[in-house]
Amino acid sequence: MRKQIVAGNWKMNNGLIQAETLISELKQQNQTSEAEVMIAPSFTNLWHAFESTRQYPIEVVAQNMHFSEDGAYTGEVSAGMLKSIGIQTVILGHSERRAYFNETDEALAKKVDTALKHDIRVIFCFGEELADRKSGNHETVVENQIKNALFHLKASDFEHIILAYEPVWAIGTGETATPEQAQSMHAFIRKTLADKYGQDIAESVSILYGGSVKPNNAKEIFSKPDVDGGLIGGASLNAEDFFAIVNAF
Ligand code: PEP
Repeated sequence: MRKQIVAGNWKMNNGLIQAETLISELKQQNQTSEAEVMIAPSFTNLWHAFESTRQYPIEVVAQNMHFSEDGAYTGEVSAGMLKSIGIQTVILGHSERRAYFNETDEALAKKVDTALKHDIRVIFCFGEELADRKSGNHETVVENQIKNALFHLKASDFEHIILAYEPVWAIGTGETATPEQAQSMHAFIRKTLADKYGQDIAESVSILYGGSVKPNNAKEIFSKPDVDGGLIGGASLNAEDFFAIVNAF
């Protein structure tokens, strides 16, 4: 059975002191669901977060990494560096990386390969912009994003891939896809996977929804059969809100 996952993307928020405070608040929360819980602090807080959650069912994951092994890439962080501090999962392809740092499908395909080579699990993000949805092209856009970055992989690689559908128009805007829109896209994504890799693989991959998930809408979104959890931005910066979402299953 595929896993239920709730991952908090802290983005470029929280210095060390704030991160320490948030982590200690997270550790005091009571988890009643069986979802896997992840937090993605910025690079400067990864080691501290990793160390201080060792005894807790909270996985610390990275927000990004470079596709090269090492070398002259000022300001970048490699897969090996992440592994060296115990990080086992990385978010790749977030729409903010695509929009502000020009991350292309081609670069993302390389990042995915590098992560898998280092035994790092990938949360692969993708999603259409508002204009795509308005023009009815949302499924084609999403299909291409998945095909271009992932369809060179072997079926067995999908054991290490988590998909995160994040319509760009719903990220940080307070506007959420309706549970029906999320379900319809997730079912389409699963079918796209099934057409290429077969039904068993498609059924085994967790597909998260991201885009203004909050305590008051998580339950309805997570109740949809093809929604296996959420990638949470804003609401992951508050321990109670985040765990209200974790417990919405
Ligand atoms: C995100 O950044 O992945 C995200 C979903 O943000 P928010 O929950 O704030 O919309």
